Amino acid sequence: MLVVMQSHATEEQVREVCSRIEALGLKAHPIPGAGRTAIGITGNDGAIDLGVLESMPGVIECIPVTKPYKLVSLDVKPDLTVVRIPTPSGDVLVGGPNVAMIAGPCAVETEEQCFAVAEQLKPSGVRLLRGGAYKPRTSPYSFQGLGLAGLKILANVRKKYGMGIVTEAIDNESLDLVDEYADVIQIGARNMQNFSLLKRAGRAKKPVLLKRGMSATLDEFLMAAEYIMSEGNYNVMLCERGVRTFSDFSRNTLDLAVVPAVRKRSHLPILVDPSHGTGKRHKVLPLSRAAVAVGADGLLVEVHHQPEKALSDGIQSILPAEYTELMAEIKQIATLLHRTVN
Ligand code: PEP
Ligand code: MN
Repeated sequence: MLVVMQSHATEEQVREVCSRIEALGLKAHPIPGAGRTAIGITGNDGAIDLGVLESMPGVIECIPVTKPYKLVSLDVKPDLTVVRIPTPSGDVLVGGPNVAMIAGPCAVETEEQCFAVAEQLKPSGVRLLRGGAYKPRTSPYSFQGLGLAGLKILANVRKKYGMGIVTEAIDNESLDLVDEYADVIQIGARNMQNFSLLKRAGRAKKPVLLKRGMSATLDEFLMAAEYIMSEGNYNVMLCERGVRTFSDFSRNTLDLAVVPAVRKRSHLPILVDPSHGTGKRHKVLPLSRAAVAVGADGLLVEVHHQPEKALSDGIQSILPAEYTELMAEIKQIATLLHRTVN
């Protein structure tokens, strides 16, 4: 259900409607728009009696939302969401006209490694550094990440290079720590339907980068975002990272068609990860170009200064010099599309 407020409705009237919704045992989500505020309602099993709300001052109408996802939907919020990520070097904007670049190693291995990558990425203007302190690995014998020690290394990178940190949380415990240390909480493909983790991310302070599950449909992907938003965290960014198909020449099949499909249904930014999406270094640049051309709101790229020595995903990690080239090309493509890279 969606309550549409008049364009001149006061903040007090919006608050009154929200309290009435809460008094009915439901959850109110005020969504300010360019022209007017709408209030999404969740928590209802069936139809709600519209009369009570529709007669309140400042309300234009109540609209039932029939789609399974509500808060992520363009029906509820027709203006595109721009997520603002504060970093020590200023805010990074994601969505709307803004294309955001996130780069860094798959995993945090040592402080020297992270500093070397950050040092070499800095001249390309990277303001969001990625790197996993907690690694969800297929094998229990593979490198699992440094955990809290890794988060501390990332905090040092933040301090020394002024970069915001994007890092993955794999369970409730790590999510609380990531919320404290990082600037963006990444939820990985393997956890896209970990509903208790999604709810916890919905109660976190920091923006969330939600990766698509490797066999998730678009509806499942959007419903996962809905879980986060339904708990009150509206700063959600989606990320396509490739799905499993019969294709045998790359690690995953990067489903770039999902970008315009998301744009038709949701106001949330959608980024693309060409590294996991292909699994091969030589495919990262061409698929990055294609992702931005098709309308992606940002890229998440794995970069390592010594990929042959990387503890995870070395074969899909590009070198910092290759990233410089990628960045230059992405800027040109974005300019053609009247978008700004940041
Ligand atoms: C990652 O970003 O390093 C990662 C583990 O990605 P995904 O969850 O998409 O596999
Ligand atoms: Mn990786």
